[in-house]
Amino acid sequence: MKYNKKNYDYLIVGAGPYGSIFAYEAAKRGKRSLIIEKRPHIGGNMYTHKESGINVHDYGAHIFHTDNKEVWDYINQFTEFNGYINQVIANYKGELYNLPFNMNTFYQMWGVKTPEEASKKILEQREAAGISGVPKNLEEQAISLIGTDIYMKLIKGYTEKQWGRKSTDLPPFIIRRLPVRYTFDNNYFNHRYQGIPIDGYTVIFEKMLNSELIDITCGVDFLDDKEVYLTEFPKIIYTGMIDAFFDYKFGELEYRSVRFESKTVNSNNFQGNAVINYTDAETPFTRIMEWRHFDNNADDGKTIITKEFPQNWDKSKEAYYPVNDKKNSDLFKRYKVEANKIDNVIFGGRLGNYQYYDMDQVFGAALKAVDKEFKNNNK
Ligand code: FAD
Repeated sequence: MKYNKKNYDYLIVGAGPYGSIFAYEAAKRGKRSLIIEKRPHIGGNMYTHKESGINVHDYGAHIFHTDNKEVWDYINQFTEFNGYINQVIANYKGELYNLPFNMNTFYQMWGVKTPEEASKKILEQREAAGISGVPKNLEEQAISLIGTDIYMKLIKGYTEKQWGRKSTDLPPFIIRRLPVRYTFDNNYFNHRYQGIPIDGYTVIFEKMLNSELIDITCGVDFLDDKEVYLTEFPKIIYTGMIDAFFDYKFGELEYRSVRFESKTVNSNNFQGNAVINYTDAETPFTRIMEWRHFDNNADDGKTIITKEFPQNWDKSKEAYYPVNDKKNSDLFKRYKVEANKIDNVIFGGRLGNYQYYDMDQVFGAALKAVDKEFKNNNK
């Protein structure tokens, strides 16, 4: 045996939340796992590191939010949350607006003070735009939901930067669930539970994976020796890219990627908020995060900011957002059919399922896979 010298029950590819939850639950049931992770650290995209007393989220701002009580109770076994509520500011060419779209935004945009005035204004703009029938693209969808002013200042530039395409070339479903509130409520999420772990996210994974039945090797890519792993391990949990697993035999699935640029600033307060979105088309980044505002433990006189630049994806970059348009969804389905033919591999997580999952959804999906595995396999 080249890799399975300890007679592991599972090989887990990827030490992100999906893989780590699986390993933790398997260990609780007396099963032994080897985790291989191609990055130099555990935690997947939830990974955080501490610098100047500040928990920096290396793969973009991660705010945990959910309505799923089971998932909330589950993650709370490993950490305490700090009660952070996400309240995002938009900066459009120096004008500041509250997000998501609510009475504060409407007041800032039009000076309207009551829900009735706000809905009248939106209705007028919808009618003036003259969009009839089912919206054909994102632009029509946005204008018919929220009117032209908000679309032009707060949606168009941001969305076009995010996706690298014109709003008229984007499908309407991307913003079908645009939150519009006729209350003065700046909470970005509607979910009942929300927060950021007081010690950052990485500690959660250190606790989960601290078991004699779990071994972890970082800096190892499963795809470098796929055939050997497949023959040596009775069962594999694969959380990498599904098309890469099959050597892209039907073609490549598309993603959007992001580049992060961070710097330390000698200040106690750079921008006064954790997240500010830059919604015009000319500013090349979409947002600036100031990490100390997520948990307020920073060393005096230091703050760390990160700018987020969306970019096209290629194999040299991290795959972040699946492009769930028809072409890619159809291609994914072809890979899924192949995946279903392989009994001893579970394809999981955001890359294994080519789905944009929030963290709570990945937790839920991993727990479901555990239930299924141990119901079927109660040895
Ligand atoms: P990942 O966390 O990506 O873990 C997969 C791991 O597998 C990675 O570490 C990867 O290196 C490893 N791997 C892949 N292929 C191989 C291979 N061949 N060999 C070895 N290892 C491999 N969710 C929220 O709920 N709230 C947020 O605010 C939020 N913000 C986000 C911001 C950004 C910019 C992004 C991109 C995502 C955000 N998410 C957020 C989503 C969250 O990151 C995901 O839900 C979660 O990380 C998915 O977990 P996972 O285990 O499926 O994948």
